[in-house]
This record gives sequence, C-alpha cells and structure tokens, in this order.
Amino acid sequence: MSDEMRIKFWGVRGSYPTPGAGTVKYGGNTPSVEIQAGDRTIILDAGTGIIPLGRELARTTPALAGGARERAGELLLLFSHLHHDHTQGFPFFVPAYMPNAKLHIYGPDGTHESMKNVLERNQSSETFPLGLRDMASSKDIQAVRESQVIVWDEDGVRVVESANSLSDEAVVIRIHKSYAHPGGVFVYRITWRGQSIVYATDTEGYVGTDKRLVKFAKDADVLIHDAQYLDEHYWGQMEGLPSTQGYGHSTVTMACEVAASSHTGQLILFHHDPSYTDDVLASMERTAKSLFANSVTAYEGLEFSLIPNPSPIGRREMKAVQYAQNG
Ligand SMILES: [Zn+2]
Ligand SMILES: [Zn+2]
Repeated sequence: MSDEMRIKFWGVRGSYPTPGAGTVKYGGNTPSVEIQAGDRTIILDAGTGIIPLGRELARTTPALAGGARERAGELLLLFSHLHHDHTQGFPFFVPAYMPNAKLHIYGPDGTHESMKNVLERNQSSETFPLGLRDMASSKDIQAVRESQVIVWDEDGVRVVESANSLSDEAVVIRIHKSYAHPGGVFVYRITWRGQSIVYATDTEGYVGTDKRLVKFAKDADVLIHDAQYLDEHYWGQMEGLPSTQGYGHSTVTMACEVAASSHTGQLILFHHDPSYTDDVLASMERTAKSLFANSVTAYEGLEFSLIPNPSPIGRREMKAVQYAQNG
C-alpha cells in the first residue's frame, strides 16, 4: 500500500460553474476534492469537479472495471450538504455507471427530506434521463449523524458509534455539524496515520471566530476552508454589490482566523465566488498570506502530498517538510 496521503482539487468554485477566459487559472468547476489515503479514495462533494475526477478514476483504477469475480472497486463519497453546487456533478460521475464499482455515499439528511430522496429527485425522469437505479454501480447510501464516525479499514467502509480500538491503518472520519450555513453543513476531519485534513466548506465565520470549528480543526495538517468573499464584499462596501452577511460563507479574514486559532499547518482557501476572476483570487491569496503565512488559494489541479513522518521527532517540528506542493 502506498504510504502517501494526497489531496487533489478538481472543483473549487462555489455556487455555480464558471467557464470562461477570466477563470482559466483557478478553474470554474464546483466543489469536488479527492483524497487518497494509501490506495483508498475518498471524495468530498460532487460538484462538477467530480466529472473529470470520475473519468480519471475510471481510467486509473483497475478494480472499478474488473470482472464479476474480482473484488469491487470501492469509493467513499462524502457530501458536506445537499445544495446543488455540491451534488450537480454526480449524474455524470462515470464510476457510478460501472457494475464493479461500490460507492459508499454518506452525508447529512436534508432539512425536509432524506439524503437518498434528494439524490433521487435530482435524477427524476422530469429532470434527468437516468435515475439513480439506472446507474449500474452498487450504492450504499446512508445519512450519518455528527455523533457517528466513518471508518475505512481492513474490514471495509462502515459507520460506527465510537472510534475506539481501531487499527493504525484505519482511515477515521469525524463529523462536525455547523449551523453557519442555511440548512446546516457537515465539516469533516479525515485522519490517517496521525495526519488530518479538515474540510470546512460553506461556512460563515462568527464574531470572535467559530470556536466549535476551531476546536474541531485543532492541529489539523491541512484546513480547507470556505473563503468565498473579499472582506469589502461581505461588508457591503463594494459599489453595486449588497452585503453578503448571513449567506453562509466566509471572508478571507475569517478563514485565516480559524486557521491561526486552530494551529493548522496549511490553509487552503476554497469555494470561490463565481463572480471573481483569476486576478481577484490571486489578490485574495496575497491578503491571506499576510494574515496566515501558509495560505494558498485552491485551484483545479492543486495537489498536496502528506508524507507520513517515520522519525521520532514530534509531528509539529516536522511540519515544514511534510508538505510537497506539486501543482
Ligand atoms: Zn456551496
Ligand atoms: Zn451551500
């Protein structure tokens, strides 16, 4: 098994896809992030970024295309919530159509409907030619709760009530339910071999920082955080643009405050406003770096490798060399 924990960004844009000349550098696909923990693939959200990711997985994962007698090719897809920018790529996710694929699809129920119903309705015959049941993969669709833990170890993928006595090889995923977004949102903390990635999209900062989120993200190696707005946009100081306070998204400053307070190793600004061009996003990165040095604006193709630290030196001392930014 590969020792590497790797993150790759396939969709980084919030709200709706934004193709065009002004978004070439950072990309226009809606949220989807791939995490590889050894040979296990975890996907965060199914915005349109999951479409090119699906093609890549279908091409490079032999088990997905394997014959009936082979072990199924397993993938774990986690939804932060069910807003359409986080689900709209799923009907075009190639592995979902592959008979040897087994998809574990976990996330929160909607406010009025179950997660399964929402996904089925997204592909009702009125709105899409193929329903969930027409997709040949086998699907384990489960709504999960904040108190539960998602585990992927030698025994496969499952949801447990407590993460006690798991092997070192287990990928352990904890859930934080945030109310800082309309309808609520799940923040995930994915840990493998002592390294942690926190995925906190679609969340708005609080005055004095979101203390529950800071606690949940404490000492994470990588924090992927919503940073949809320029501060002046959020506060309604931009000509012709209303304040976006209460929309459920953060400013660069809010993202940096959470990163600094939680002592995260690396901050990745995420869920970019669809009206922002590459130049605006580059300026947001400069602002972020002045507030929290290890900041980067997510772009399609950005990759981070977290190499497990075999030395007895403490993890925090080793942080500087753990990151290999490839993209
Ligand atoms: Zn969103
Ligand atoms: Zn949302």
